[in-house]
Amino acid sequence: MFQRICLAHYHEIGLKGHNRASFEMRLLKNLEQLLRDFPVVTIKRISGRICIYIKEGTDYALACDLANQVSKVPGVVRVSSGYKCTRELEVFYKAAVLAIEDAGEFLSFKVQARRNHTDFPIDSMEINRLVGAHLCDVYPDKKVQMKDPDLTVAVEVVQSSAYVYARSIVGIGGLPVGASGRVMCLLSSGIDSPVALWRIARRGATCSAVHFSGRPQTSSTSEFLVADIARVLQETGCIKRVYVVPFGDYQREIAALVPPELRVIMYRRLMFKVAEALAHRERGRALVTGESLGQVASQTLDNIAATDEAVSMPVFRPLIGTDKQEIIKEAKQLGTFDISSQDAPDCCTLFMPRNPETHARLHDVLEAEEKLPLADWIPEILAATELLNFHV
Ligand code: ATP
Ligand code: MG
Repeated sequence: MFQRICLAHYHEIGLKGHNRASFEMRLLKNLEQLLRDFPVVTIKRISGRICIYIKEGTDYALACDLANQVSKVPGVVRVSSGYKCTRELEVFYKAAVLAIEDAGEFLSFKVQARRNHTDFPIDSMEINRLVGAHLCDVYPDKKVQMKDPDLTVAVEVVQSSAYVYARSIVGIGGLPVGASGRVMCLLSSGIDSPVALWRIARRGATCSAVHFSGRPQTSSTSEFLVADIARVLQETGCIKRVYVVPFGDYQREIAALVPPELRVIMYRRLMFKVAEALAHRERGRALVTGESLGQVASQTLDNIAATDEAVSMPVFRPLIGTDKQEIIKEAKQLGTFDISSQDAPDCCTLFMPRNPETHARLHDVLEAEEKLPLADWIPEILAATELLNFHV
């Protein structure tokens, strides 16, 4: 009679007019994919929400884990846990008590009924009153409060069923992955770039990533870290695949061919060009980096302009105005901080000049770049690129 359910609420996607149905379908498909290891019977759209029907016999703890997982999926603003039941008043009473038992401590509450079909004879106001009165009998020490109660018990009558829930947690919001086109993210094993990728995925972009490894001049430690980071991002559907580029030899060549102070800019311009070529392969429309203004030498306005000039795609920098402390906080929430904090020989630290240029002039950069056989290098690098797949 009472089937455990979890409801994913969304709102931005609700605002998208005629796109709404396709956005909802995307969120539904993403949830289906991400919940495949949970005891789920089916996932369906019901009147402005997505309902996850949980297998009979699933315990409370697992249902909570499922709700937590749903709350981290882009597009979900709130997740409620409760029960699906038949459309009878007596059944609502029991379901409301069950839902309240799941919701934890509270002092005040209200009932909020919604009726999608007027074929149910009792209107919302009346449901509120009757279920509320019943709950007052069961919980005499709790008080009804219309404004900001600790707990809201929802009773939603939708078609031939009803959905009753009280436990709600906040979701991360944003748009479902896949709603905003494809991008290519430059993913180091550092703290910032995983956060940048996650932010852009939360705006609905399908993200692939490219990692430049110092191999064969360094070990492959950074590649293992990036794979671990990608697994974390994959748990919520935020990453699709990672390209790994052995880049050490090219850095060594660049170090030998250009003035020391321009090396870093030159590495970065080449990274951007390779990333752009990989993006083209999968119809990606923009690059994404974890840069934040002024954080390190390569992240001055002049240097950013000098690297952007290497490509014609827009380059998104979701962290440009974000402080390191804020980025660290977000990386911790995301679960990538501990991985990123491990030491790895980054390809950027390899062949680092003592005094990198902080205000590169485009003219000097372009002149130095002429010495590099880029027309040979780029296809060579692309051919040596390896792929890690994370099917979403
Ligand atoms: P992060 O913590 O993301 O590594 P950072 O503060 O260390 O950033 P930089 O090393 O200057 O800054 O890198 C700036 C951005 O360039 C990174 O956020 C990332 O997007 C890209 N990047 C740097 N190194 C690599 C790499 N080895 N592979 C792929 N992208 C890289
Ligand atoms: Mg770095």
